Amino acid sequence: MTRFLILGAGPTGLGAARQLEIRGCRDWALLDSGAQPGGLAASFTDPQGFTWDIGGHVQFSHYDYFDAAMDEFLGEDGWLHHQRAAYVWLRERFIPYPFQNNIRRLPDDDLDRCLQGLVDITRSPRAEPRTFRDWIHAKFGPGIADVFLLPYNFKVWAYPPERMGVGWMGERVAVTDLGRVLSNLVHARDDVSWGPNNTFRFPRQGGTGEIWRACAARLPRSNIFLNTEAVEVDLAQRMVRTTDGTAFTYDRLISTIPLKELIRLSGQGQLKAKAEQGLLHSSSHIVGLGLRGAPGPELAGKCWIYFPENNCPFYRVTVFSNYSPRNVPDITKNWSLMCEVSESSCKPVNRASLVEDVIQGALNTRLLEDRDDIVSTWQYTAEYGYPTPGLDRDEALAELIPYFEQYDVFSRGRFGMWKYEVSNQDHSFMQGVEIVERLVTGRPEITATDPDRVNAAKHPWPYDEWAEAEAPCRETLMSASGAT
Ligand SMILES: Cc1cc2nc3c(=O)[nH]c(=O)nc-3n(C[C@H](O)[C@H](O)[C@H](O)COP(=O)(O)OP(=O)(O)OC[C@H]3O[C@@H](n4cnc5c(N)ncnc54)[C@H](O)[C@@H]3O)c2cc1C
Repeated sequence: MTRFLILGAGPTGLGAARQLEIRGCRDWALLDSGAQPGGLAASFTDPQGFTWDIGGHVQFSHYDYFDAAMDEFLGEDGWLHHQRAAYVWLRERFIPYPFQNNIRRLPDDDLDRCLQGLVDITRSPRAEPRTFRDWIHAKFGPGIADVFLLPYNFKVWAYPPERMGVGWMGERVAVTDLGRVLSNLVHARDDVSWGPNNTFRFPRQGGTGEIWRACAARLPRSNIFLNTEAVEVDLAQRMVRTTDGTAFTYDRLISTIPLKELIRLSGQGQLKAKAEQGLLHSSSHIVGLGLRGAPGPELAGKCWIYFPENNCPFYRVTVFSNYSPRNVPDITKNWSLMCEVSESSCKPVNRASLVEDVIQGALNTRLLEDRDDIVSTWQYTAEYGYPTPGLDRDEALAELIPYFEQYDVFSRGRFGMWKYEVSNQDHSFMQGVEIVERLVTGRPEITATDPDRVNAAKHPWPYDEWAEAEAPCRETLMSASGAT
């Protein structure tokens, strides 16, 4: 019997557990089916000594609280700081990201099409778009849509963009400023500074998972149950049963497992159709290539590269050895590439030949010169990788989330809340923190409920949204969280 039971030891579950401790509530338990904490933000070291994340993870943040927690977990010296150097590989060349600001790098005929499309939408703006496909056409014109955005977005999301909505985008996708595009063209200037993650930090050692290992290590060991999979959630009895038959009863359940799995484990079959219709997702396959030698001059300073074309299965590759020299066994002898491939019912993947297909893709796109340079391959599949913002998502969530809350079950996190726009590590961790604040103090959540507001600014702690009258809490919370 426990007051708070938390399902899942990813950033959301750990954020919740830590906040309960900060609030002086020791009566909690945290279960995870995995062998280590971190969930999708965990890291692995392969037998050859290469460290891998589940896809390229970088730290950026919308919250002072999250920043302070990161400094506390790894120490200020535990980080390497990077300037984003992101590119698109297209037509046998690198085009700096964001693509639309750097179309001057395209061959002449593509450049003409892209420019013409931008001029067209400036002259005659399109109607307010309803689907992601219409949005791409309305904001970028048919040239950029056909040359880059439509093929790339199908590759990354694994769904046709007409099945996706538009409400999720907020600040996430750079829109076009024709004046800036023309100025870059006239001055032959690369324009790379846009966006929320143009600088980022990365753990000096251990990969991204080091953050969450350090977070878990600060919590009481006896409250954390790893290798413990929940196989049944009994809403009426307030009980979770695990594979070995143990029953954990609770007052409140914070669930960070995929919402569809919560529906299944709790036997709420009447919700299944709504969830299937509204909650789309794709799987993420990660293939790591551990290499001998060093990256060539083209790759030496790059962080990640997007691949919209059909000459390779991956949509993105991270030069992972550039994030930290300790991601490889010996930086004087090795480097590494981490490749991401999406899969869904609309975009099947041949899993048996995936590693070979990725290697061939790396050769086709000149990431790799010689397959004999490969000294290690690593493969990981996250069945739930990206929570796709489908057209019916918000309607489904408006029914499903309150349904469980009437039973004191609070579904939060990347796949608990299913909102891609607030599903990075900072958002997920803060969803865990905020649900505890809501349950313990009555403070309203903002991340799960108001993504646009969250993503529009950096937030102090306590949030401005919470009453000024709460000022006395500030000192206590900041010192308890190690924040300054
Ligand atoms: C390819 C990729 C790239 C990404 N890049 C970035 C990035 O650059 N920056 C960034 O900030 N974020 C990035 N993310 C997102 C980041 O990984 C997530 O924000 C974060 O891991 C979500 O945390 P969570 O706790 O909500 O969910 P998860 O990490 O999914 O944790 C859920 C936990 O629940 C456990 N679980 C599931 N079912 C059960 C069960 N039945 N019983 C017990 N336990 C169960 C799982 O084992 C897991 O540990 C990326 C994600 C992916 C897939």
